[in-house]
Amino acid sequence: MGRRHPPRRSHRISPTTIMGVLVRGNCCNSLDMMESWDRLFDEAYRADVKIHTDGGIIIYAHASILGFASPVFRSMFKKPRSKNIFSIPIRGVPPEAVRIFIRFLYTSCYEQAQMEEHVLSLLVLSHAFAVPKLKRECEYQLEHRLLNLDNIVDVFQLALLCDAPRLKIICHRFMLKSFKAVSSSAGWKAMKESHPTLEKELLESVRVEDRRQKQRMRKLEERKIYVELYEAMEILIHMCRDGPHGQELKEDQKACKYEGCKGLESLVRHFSGCKLRVSGGCSHCQRMWQLLELHARLCVNSNACRVPQCRKLKQKIAKANKKKRKKTEEMKWNILAKKVVRSKSITGAPYFRLPSS
Ligand SMILES: [Zn+2]
Ligand SMILES: [Zn+2]
Ligand SMILES: [Zn+2]
Repeated sequence: MGRRHPPRRSHRISPTTIMGVLVRGNCCNSLDMMESWDRLFDEAYRADVKIHTDGGIIIYAHASILGFASPVFRSMFKKPRSKNIFSIPIRGVPPEAVRIFIRFLYTSCYEQAQMEEHVLSLLVLSHAFAVPKLKRECEYQLEHRLLNLDNIVDVFQLALLCDAPRLKIICHRFMLKSFKAVSSSAGWKAMKESHPTLEKELLESVRVEDRRQKQRMRKLEERKIYVELYEAMEILIHMCRDGPHGQELKEDQKACKYEGCKGLESLVRHFSGCKLRVSGGCSHCQRMWQLLELHARLCVNSNACRVPQCRKLKQKIAKANKKKRKKTEEMKWNILAKKVVRSKSITGAPYFRLPSS
């Protein structure tokens, strides 16, 4: 006969001390009931299973309860037993974790402090003995409370081993987010030693994420430029329709809803007075020509439009299109026009139209 586990004080678990299953309301519906199951486990009345754990500690249990809660136990109990007792080894995890695990099979409950201390072992046990209810609890606890820089690499590896895809993703995200701290942790160093391929894969995913982040930033920047161009198009129409604010705006700055109105107005003023404008030698005027051409390409009705050069530019564009010359430049303009219009609205109506390509 092995060492019997020391008698444990059977204590009532108040609902406030239990987190997880009981608090979330899907476990035993009465505390008395739970206490009976707890006592049955503690007192090991007519127990017929001996669980051998590390350090020679033996935990007693009932085959009917273990077999009912876990298909893995059930298949173990199909084998013949000696002297009416089943002997089962559960090693490699702390004996206390095994006790908490077995107790969960009786009561469907655990105490939060125990969960915090043994969550990794409980994850392994619940996976190995196919107890999905406890496995879900461990995953939930890790995801919502217990992940930290010290355990993240271990949890990630366990998530892979225990087939916990959601937990794996959560850990992966965590590691990407705090890569610098994680990669200098003891857990990371241990993984580098024991699973160098896994480390390589993780480093690669960090590089991929880095590239993605840069791409996202570039796209955001691009979109900002298109939105600004779209606004410039709107302001151009607003200026030509409503007339320049000129001195008026100085007295009442808030009068115009367009932020860039003042800037564009001074550009237009420069454009009409610049001596270099015709030869295109001035960068301000070049900018203005670009805005005017973009406008002409988008303008819905050039005949009624009051934006300077709109009709002339439209004719020039039509001619260039007919000759099919400068094809690549045309394509560039068309792409730009589309991106500008789509940056703000679907169609750009009523003033703008997507160029037909
Ligand atoms: Zn304005
Ligand atoms: Zn100029
Ligand atoms: Zn126009």
